[in-house]
Amino acid sequence: MRFDILTIFPEMFAPFLCYGMIKRARDKGLLTVYVHDLRVFTTDSHRSVDDVPYGGGPGMVMKIEPIHRAVTAICPEGRNKKRILLSPDGRKLNTELARCLASDDSLLLICGRYEGVDERVSLHLVDDEISIGDYILSGGEVPAMVLMEAIVRFIPGALGNRESLAEESFTGKWLEYPQYTRPAEFEGKKVPEVLLSGNHQEIKEWRHRQSLIRTAKRRPDLIDWALLTAKEIGWLAESGVTPHLKPSGKSI
Ligand code: SAM
Repeated sequence: MRFDILTIFPEMFAPFLCYGMIKRARDKGLLTVYVHDLRVFTTDSHRSVDDVPYGGGPGMVMKIEPIHRAVTAICPEGRNKKRILLSPDGRKLNTELARCLASDDSLLLICGRYEGVDERVSLHLVDDEISIGDYILSGGEVPAMVLMEAIVRFIPGALGNRESLAEESFTGKWLEYPQYTRPAEFEGKKVPEVLLSGNHQEIKEWRHRQSLIRTAKRRPDLIDWALLTAKEIGWLAESGVTPHLKPSGKSI
């Protein structure tokens, strides 16, 4: 898979690309990343990428011309590359969206700065806008890195252990069960006995139960309460969580 990044701060990406899963995916030839400096696509002596907003107001707005020049150069006619603007107004990133984007061969990520980007970029130059959450950051670089990490995990072979992807929070229906490692006891705080038992069936059931209880307590919105089994409802009752029973059938 290929990523092109358009940014006024290309240096921010150098360390990000040199560690962990992203580095391994690049080393294995599964991922290629080209980082483009937007200022290279300016034509004035000040290399300006921003200007004052029409209608007044605080801050500066990123101009369309350098972005248009860059997009035209990076995405030549006929080349199939999806163009994504990182934007707090965009579709909110989640596992499904990341998994879906991982099936693209090539993505261009455009990082905004200042008060945002001339609206004509969103209207005419991009295929999609993606937000990483309902908060404002000062630029699209960190959101682009977040998006890239979320997508690359779904490239076959990018993760060291494919099983970990299957069990992680949000990839299944619920949050992941709690994890422990050595020592078995630290300052009187013990690892749950069942995990030391070696009984794989009991461990599996314990994890299933913990995953449900954790999700019910922290993210009840992820649970389809009507689909819980009697056993699962019993586990919740024992742990003091009241199921949010939704009315079944269609609303009129
Ligand atoms: N004035 C804009 C608004 O109120 O929506 C915020 C602009 S923000 C300071 C500058 C740039 O950071 C945006 O153009 C976008 O590229 C990026 N950005 C900030 N927060 C983001 C988020 N939650 N998701 C994705 N991109 C974000």
